[in-house]
Order: sequence, then C-alpha cells, then structure tokens
Amino acid sequence: MKVIGLIGGMSWESSAQYYRIINEEVRARLEGAHSAKSLMWSMDFGEIEALQHQGDWASLTERMIEAARNLERGGADFLVICTNTMHRMAADIENKVKIPLLHIADPTAAKIKQAGVSKVGLLGTAFTMEQDFYKGRLSEKFGLDVLVPPAEDREIVHEIIYHELVSGVVLEASRARYREVIARLVERGAQAVILGCTEIMLLISQKDSPVPIFDTTELHALAAVDWALGQQPQR
Ligand code: GLU
Repeated sequence: MKVIGLIGGMSWESSAQYYRIINEEVRARLEGAHSAKSLMWSMDFGEIEALQHQGDWASLTERMIEAARNLERGGADFLVICTNTMHRMAADIENKVKIPLLHIADPTAAKIKQAGVSKVGLLGTAFTMEQDFYKGRLSEKFGLDVLVPPAEDREIVHEIIYHELVSGVVLEASRARYREVIARLVERGAQAVILGCTEIMLLISQKDSPVPIFDTTELHALAAVDWALGQQPQR
C-alpha cells in the first residue's frame, strides 16, 4: 500500500472528513482491520486565511512547498492537498518535489464527464470561483462549461465558508441560502453542481439540490485510496 501524504488543516474540519473517508474506504475494500497508511501536515488555518485575504500568495506558496517537502521526507508516496483553493499553487509544488500530486479537480471532472454532464455549476471560495486556476483546468483539460454564481451569490457562498464552515458551524439558515444559490445556477442551465470547497459537504448533500452534486472532498479522498491501493487514478 502506498503512503498518502495529506496537506491538511485548511480547515481541519474538512481534513477530518478526508481522514474518515480514506480509512473507511480502505477498510471496506480490504476488510478486517485494515486502514490507510498516511501522513498529514496540518496547517494553522488562522495564519493561512489571513494570508489569503491579504493576497499574499507568495508566502502561501512557500508554506505549501515546505509542507510538501516535509511529507516527502517523511515517506509519503504521493500528495493530496485537502483544499480546492490551495490548488492555486499546485504547479509550484509539483516543481519542488519528486513525488506526484493527485489534483483535486481531476477525479471530480472525470466523474462529471462519465455522468454525461457538460455544463456544471461551481461553488467554492471566492478565490476558486473567480480566479482561473480551477475553472481553467476544468474547461481546458476536461472541456467542461463552468458556471459560477453572480457576485452577490459568490459573496454568500464565500462568507459562509470562512465565517461558519471552517469553524464547524452548520446552520439551517445558511443551508437555505446555499439551496437558493444552487437553484439559481440550475435556472441558468447547470446540469450538476461541484462542491468545490472541501467544507461545503458539511452543509450540503444531494437532497439540497435538484441536479446531481459532485463533492470534491469525497471524490478526492476516494481517488487517493485508488492510488494507494495500486490503481492508476484518473488524472
Ligand atoms: N477548504 C476550502 C477549499 O476547499 C477553503 C479553505 C481554504 O481556503 O483552503 O477551498
């Protein structure tokens, strides 16, 4: 079994979900007392989110490279970054370590394509919804037509992530607001919705959406198990 190197703590609420899903899946596939071999480098998210909101992506990139190197030195066979947003510097990280990276967008996009979906709504942090590193990969590498919510809705989605979900706060009122945002994406033609922030699955599940949802936390964690157990991931 390969050793999964997780860069987590962004936030730990979602990293805990990765750890649970990965270990449950290994137990289901190998049975008995088996569990995943993994290492996690867990960041202090207070520091990370401050740098994100200051736009200091250079410092964030340095920290991510340091984390990746620590995991490589510790014996990880491949890297899993447990956040969509911090894939902004995925290429910089890949250039600085020898072990490969399992990009979060790839297993997600592969499943979306298998489902025959071409126009997909994207929910995530403002960074993920507005910058090109994520949408660009979905459209250029996988040919998906990506719809993001309008500015007002993006603000709702972003604020709920940073003020509630990363602290483990799950409110019915926020679920209702997300449901409205999803409904507006569907009205504009979204055939499915990507939960493109690893905490959104704490709030939203399939019953909150009239179209299929694709949860990046679950799909990424399952792809990590595929790779750890010797299957080539879709990338
Ligand atoms: N976990 C989130 C994501 O998937 C947001 C936290 C972060 O900025 O890393 O984008």
